[in-house]
Amino acid sequence: MEHNKRILSGMRSTNPKLHIGNYEGALRNWVDLQEQGYEMYCMIADWHALTTMFEDSSVIGRNCLEVAKDYVSAGIDPGKSAVFVQSNVKEHAELHLLFSMTTPLGWLERVPTYKEKQADIGGTEREPYGLLGYPVLQTADILLYRPYGVPVGRDQAPHLEIGNDIGTRFNRLFSTDLFQPYKYMIPEDENRAKVPGLDMRKMSKSYDNCIYLSDSADETAAKVKSAFTTPTKIKLSDPGIPEGCAVCQYLKLYSPNWESQWQEDRDGVRGCMQNKRELIEILNEYLRPIREKRASISDDDIRDILHHGAERARVVASATMEKVRSAMGLLP
Ligand code: ADP
Repeated sequence: MEHNKRILSGMRSTNPKLHIGNYEGALRNWVDLQEQGYEMYCMIADWHALTTMFEDSSVIGRNCLEVAKDYVSAGIDPGKSAVFVQSNVKEHAELHLLFSMTTPLGWLERVPTYKEKQADIGGTEREPYGLLGYPVLQTADILLYRPYGVPVGRDQAPHLEIGNDIGTRFNRLFSTDLFQPYKYMIPEDENRAKVPGLDMRKMSKSYDNCIYLSDSADETAAKVKSAFTTPTKIKLSDPGIPEGCAVCQYLKLYSPNWESQWQEDRDGVRGCMQNKRELIEILNEYLRPIREKRASISDDDIRDILHHGAERARVVASATMEKVRSAMGLLP
């Protein structure tokens, strides 16, 4: 099939920095897929950032440059993969509008993350219309590329499901087979699919509990030292509960010896300080190549990469829009 090797994924530019949850849950998979020869479209979702940041929009453009730097530092090769900003490919807005006409309101009101975000914002007088439509825009982002798969962390699963439903409904309404269901590519390793934060909630920039890819070695060390550990383990000899300890969770992700480290923690023959010391060393070594690459990329390099990435994305996006307009019977 013509679009069999295409992959679309993205992150919002709500923050200038990506965290190790974004990396383990999504970005690392993108790099693997790129190396396996998939045709990658790596988007930075600036319009999505506006759903929660419309009062703070002046930083969103700058954030896009920084997020793109993180993509490239983590191994996305702009020679192989298209790195682009959502608002630079206007077809995303057109397909969003058309899907907003075909998507039942009830589907959107039932999305679990909608209720959560709605509660955060505090009332319908403050809630933007775009928040409810978030999964519709996300579906447009995805289906414009008619991809084989979408690699994301576990938290995105409900949005991906509704996207396939919107595509199937479009096919049925307009008697076409334009949108084939795409695969959800969530890491099989549950530790990577949902990385805990320093406080053991989900790692998320909105909780301020993140280790960022661009943190310095010293910043990373300070964060690990402050991370949540077993509250009842005061002395080294107190038994630990690694399942509930952020430092032990990160050891499981990054240390080849995590099983013996967990056992010793449980048995009270290893203390939290030792866990933290060892983790700081392993994590800083793991992040070193990403930081070094980041330091070598200028703003001009990134602007150039984004310009070319948008050109490549537009080729696919405009071809899909021609098919969409034709299926719906709109004038070309
Ligand atoms: P955040 O939750 O920090 O606002 P985004 O919603 O922009 O991050 O998510 C960008 C990508 O990173 C998505 O694919 C999402 O599933 C993934 N992701 C975010 N947080 C985590 C996490 N803690 N563990 C694994 N993947 C995550």
